[in-house]
Amino acid sequence: MLGLSPDLLGAAGFDGYLKLFNPAWMQMLGWADEQLRSTPYIELVHPDDRDATLRIIEGLVAGGTVEAYVCRILHTDGGHRHILWSGQGSPGDGCFYIAGKDITERQRLEHELALRADKLERSNAELQEFAYIASHDLAEPLRMITAYLQLLQHRYGGRLDETADEFIGYAVGGAERMKALIDDLLAYSRIGSHEMQCDRVDLGELLHAVLLGLQQAVGERHARVELVEPLGSVGGDRTQLGQLVQNLISNAVKFHSGEDGPPVVTISTAQDADGVRIDVTDNGIGIAQGHQERIFKMFDRLHGRDEYDGTGIGLSLCRRIAERHGGRIWVESELGTGSIFHVWLPSA
Ligand code: ADP
Repeated sequence: MLGLSPDLLGAAGFDGYLKLFNPAWMQMLGWADEQLRSTPYIELVHPDDRDATLRIIEGLVAGGTVEAYVCRILHTDGGHRHILWSGQGSPGDGCFYIAGKDITERQRLEHELALRADKLERSNAELQEFAYIASHDLAEPLRMITAYLQLLQHRYGGRLDETADEFIGYAVGGAERMKALIDDLLAYSRIGSHEMQCDRVDLGELLHAVLLGLQQAVGERHARVELVEPLGSVGGDRTQLGQLVQNLISNAVKFHSGEDGPPVVTISTAQDADGVRIDVTDNGIGIAQGHQERIFKMFDRLHGRDEYDGTGIGLSLCRRIAERHGGRIWVESELGTGSIFHVWLPSA
């Protein structure tokens, strides 16, 4: 039986020498039977692990047990194997019984995984910082460009020829679009770089506040936004959740042809065992089946700016917020009929 075990099994004498060991010792470590018998076992332990191992042995000699102790054992090839030990002291027999599992490969993989995770985290953080600094530093010169363009427009509008007015108009439009892009990019990078708050957020209160901020957009399109109360509450970052629903509602109002009456947007929630689902339903232009995933990617838009204004960042921001809360976002939609954006957030 002992001969079949791939793990190290043995009895180690209190005199410092192995008394019994199964064939796994030879296979795993390369040592010959005679060498194992005649070498003090502490010499097989990596010099850096010896002190800790001697302390463990002291406990075993006193009749104690050990579980899940890891130390490095010398292989005849000069390398070391990481062995996970468990053992039981037996003062009556003058030895302790031990079983050891080779976890070298597991440890190597764990180490590699940790290194990769660390590298990924660092490159993510660098990217995050880059996006933040780039957008933050771009905002300043842009403010200046916009200010002087507007000055040109006010002072010289109508005093140059028509083409000049047109050119200045394009330049002002471009600067405004760039400002919208930078603001959205900054909001996006802040989601990752800022500490998340964990508030108990009353969804009714949150939506009322968001709608107040959207009054102009809603009014301009004669839209009707209905809240199906009670909406309940959810744990999360109030500011981020506000951004999430604000993006969904402003999209619901915006992506509407205006042909068959005004936009109607309904917001309701449904509680399940693990969390809450927020549904934003609109009667807008809808999204074809094949595009329902790509709209959540950054800069992905299904329409030109001449049709519907925007930066293409809103939904990727929504997805990022939902995922940072441990939730998810998806859409159900039919072209020409309308869309329902679902956000599920865990209750914790
Ligand atoms: P933006 O609104 O700035 O274009 P988003 O990331 O918010 O960017 O949306 C990406 C694209 O998804 C939009 O350009 C639009 O094509 C589509 N979309 C988003 N919301 C809706 C909606 N409620 N109805 C129809 N299409 C939508």
